[in-house]
Amino acid sequence: MELQHWLTAAREHSEQIIAYRRHLHQHPELSFAEHRTHDFISSVLQRAGITPHTVAQTGVVATIGTGERSVAIRADIDALPITERTGLPFASECDGVMHACGHDCHTAMLLGAALMLKQHEHMLPGRVLLIFQPGEEKSPGGASLVIADGVLDRYHPEAIFGQHLYPDAPTGTIELTSGPIMASADELYWTLHGKGSHAAQPHKGSNPIRAAAELIVHLEGIVQQRRDPLHPAVLAVTAIEGGTATNVVPDCVRLKGTLRSFDDQWRRQMWNRIEAHSRVLASLHDVECTVEIVTGYPPLVNNPEATNHARAVAQQLVGTDHVRTFEPKMWAEDFAFYAERIPAAFWMLGCRPPERSTMPGLHSPLFNPDEDALPIGAAMLAAVATAWLAR
Ligand SMILES: [Zn+2]
Ligand SMILES: [Zn+2]
Repeated sequence: MELQHWLTAAREHSEQIIAYRRHLHQHPELSFAEHRTHDFISSVLQRAGITPHTVAQTGVVATIGTGERSVAIRADIDALPITERTGLPFASECDGVMHACGHDCHTAMLLGAALMLKQHEHMLPGRVLLIFQPGEEKSPGGASLVIADGVLDRYHPEAIFGQHLYPDAPTGTIELTSGPIMASADELYWTLHGKGSHAAQPHKGSNPIRAAAELIVHLEGIVQQRRDPLHPAVLAVTAIEGGTATNVVPDCVRLKGTLRSFDDQWRRQMWNRIEAHSRVLASLHDVECTVEIVTGYPPLVNNPEATNHARAVAQQLVGTDHVRTFEPKMWAEDFAFYAERIPAAFWMLGCRPPERSTMPGLHSPLFNPDEDALPIGAAMLAAVATAWLAR
């Protein structure tokens, strides 16, 4: 089948895809609590004659087609703890929860792809595995749970593809790049225990605020010192908490921060450095420092072969002029866990209304993507999967 046909088919389904999206948008659920979302996905699949299987508690997987070979397409399904302010007629009915990262659209596009693939099941040269994945927005990441549930081992897909709405590009464009495109993201928590005293008698205590101030400057400095200047990395201290009065030196200060990198090996070396340097630097102030590092998602590295495949498909669907290079970002994305295991490609789907030059970004309470992007994304998923199996 001509790849272009998938776009025609998706446009025929676009009313349905948008209806799914609006329903999901109105009923968002937080990471790992996607119960109604799970049931909605399952019922849509069942009505289409596709058998859904529950994974990772609130996730759904299903296959279309038969045969030894298989390829996976994935959507994330969770929402964020944000109070929506779009004023849309289908705005969130759930107080303080919003699909502000476009996962409602991701889910609707995968459902749209499922309907189209089912209609053409007889001509599929293998199996397409659909993964509706929970908990992208929250550590440890639903992808890691889907993998732990044995989904990749059970269906052994040769490759996996996924996409994200991208408000920085106009509808009708697709951006993608081979290699590392998103960063690892680890959570850092420091506790500095000193000794409180009267502020007028600092020599009788050990001030954890002084230690914290030097530690912040020092740590941001070691990132600059210890990385190859050509490789980006971020260490940001983003919260500091301690003290109560102008005349009291407190006992304890707590810091929070994030460490981000495209280089997994460097990142692991930094964990040790952060701990050692924090302990030593605090000790110069007679302060005891403990560091907790909560390991986040690894860097997302697009496989060259899978990326070239997705690019070639995108060029046929939206035209060469509308397929661009994605500038890597220090965001994080748990699709990275799949990419660690099998060839993977993740592309960005433009969703900014073409007549506008900017729009509210991801995680904004005003995020309102152009729904004309949905048939394009649904067609991409179906076309990328079938073209992979046809190779
Ligand atoms: Zn997000
Ligand atoms: Zn997202």
